[in-house]
Formats: sequence, structure tokens, C-alpha cells
Amino acid sequence: MVANWKMHKTVAQSTAYVRELCRLVEQEPLPERVEMVVAPTYLAIAPVAARVRVVGVGVAAQSLDPGREGALTGAVSGYLLFAAGARYAIVGHSERRQQFQETDLMVAERVGAALDAGLTPILCVGESALNRERGETEAVLHRELDAVLGDLPRPAPHLVVAYEPIWAIGTGVAADPAEANRMAALIRRRVDEAWPGAGESVRILYGGSVTVANAAAVFSESEVDGALIGSASLQVQDFVTMARAGGIHQEER
Ligand code: PEP
Repeated sequence: MVANWKMHKTVAQSTAYVRELCRLVEQEPLPERVEMVVAPTYLAIAPVAARVRVVGVGVAAQSLDPGREGALTGAVSGYLLFAAGARYAIVGHSERRQQFQETDLMVAERVGAALDAGLTPILCVGESALNRERGETEAVLHRELDAVLGDLPRPAPHLVVAYEPIWAIGTGVAADPAEANRMAALIRRRVDEAWPGAGESVRILYGGSVTVANAAAVFSESEVDGALIGSASLQVQDFVTMARAGGIHQEER
């Protein structure tokens, strides 16, 4: 369960959130198979990581730049993020692809950089409304996956893939759970084709307007292992409620 805070929350607000998160999780532990991750801005990674470590909650960077150290003004590498306490990195979010012009090639480079730095990549893939209208959804998913899978020299054992249809992000219109499940199955198959045997272990999330109201329906689908949640994760109690909903279904499997 990943909370993507995007460009929200000051450092003080981020630490207040995780203080409350720790209190809620200590009061009632999360179901055993639930892994919870928060993705604050770069600024808050270190203070957030220092606080959540004790309750076993992970921290993700929302992006990263390739390389380790160097003369790259404004860049933040996986190495620096790992040192600050991050253990995951969201890569290829559609907002990065669309507003920061990150190409498939750049996404592949960042996935490799995340793995080199010891970070688990959370690779986002998904089609636009226009792709969907034109019946290009599967082709887009294959292209975005192949760019990364083909670029890595060997299977990445901890890879996480988030299916995030762009038309569902921040719109209040979530994908139909059965449709999300079909796309998750397609992603799993593609990973397995690239790296035989790896399809089973890759964790596949759904992202796009997940809320407290629809979380249980999303998680009831057999191919969906969790969720990447934007706006609905900004309220700590809601994020915990959605994580618990996910845990119930994980235990049922
Ligand atoms: C996201 O940012 O990845 C996302 C899924 O946002 P939201 O939950 O707000 O649609």
C-alpha cells in the first residue's frame, strides 16, 4: 500500500502525519501481509524515515535521477535517497512522463538506477484516455513494460508494477475492478515472458482514484496485490483504513 503525497505536505505536516500513523499502527497492528509505504517530498524523506522505521513502514521517493553523485544541479540520486532512508522509488509516474517529459528510455534508466542504489522500484504504467478510446491500452502497457524489462540485465526480484490508467488518476473515476484485474494479469504475464518464473513474485498495484469507498472492491481482485494512492492517502486515518481493507483480502488468498 503506497501513499503518494505528490507536492503536498510541508516537513512539519509530513512528520505530524507519520506520528499519527505510528500511533494508529501501534494501537492496532496491520494485518501481517500488508506492507505500507509513504512517499513524501524529497525534503521530508529523512525525518519521515526516522520516525516510521520503528513500526515497519517503508519510505519511497517519488522519483529519482540516475547517477550517484556529480555536477548535476537540482538532481537527487538513488544513492542520496537511500542514504536519507528511502527504500523504494516511484518511477515513471504519468505526471513525470507528461509534465517532465520522461521518456520510456529515461524511465528504464531510472529503474536501473533505483536497483543499483538498493531501492525497490515502483514502476508506473498506464494508458491515456485517448489510448483507451483507440483500443491501444494493451499496446501501451506492453511498450512501457518492455522498455524496462528489456533494459535490465537480469530479473529484479523485488520489482513492483503499478497499473495506473492516466484517465483515472485524480479524476474520481476509478477503473472497473474487473478491468484493473485484467490489466494486472496482462502485466504479470509480460513480466513472466521477459523473466520466466518472475511473474508470480512481481507485486502489482492498482492506482487511480482509490478511496475508502472502493478500496475493498479493488483488493478483492485476484491479480491486484495492493494500491498506489494519491489524494485519498493524504488523510492518515483513510490510508490506514484502506490498508486494512487490503489486508483482509490478502489473508483470504
Ligand atoms: C497517483 O498519484 O498515483 C494516484 C493514483 O492518484 P489518485 O489516487 O489521487 O488518483
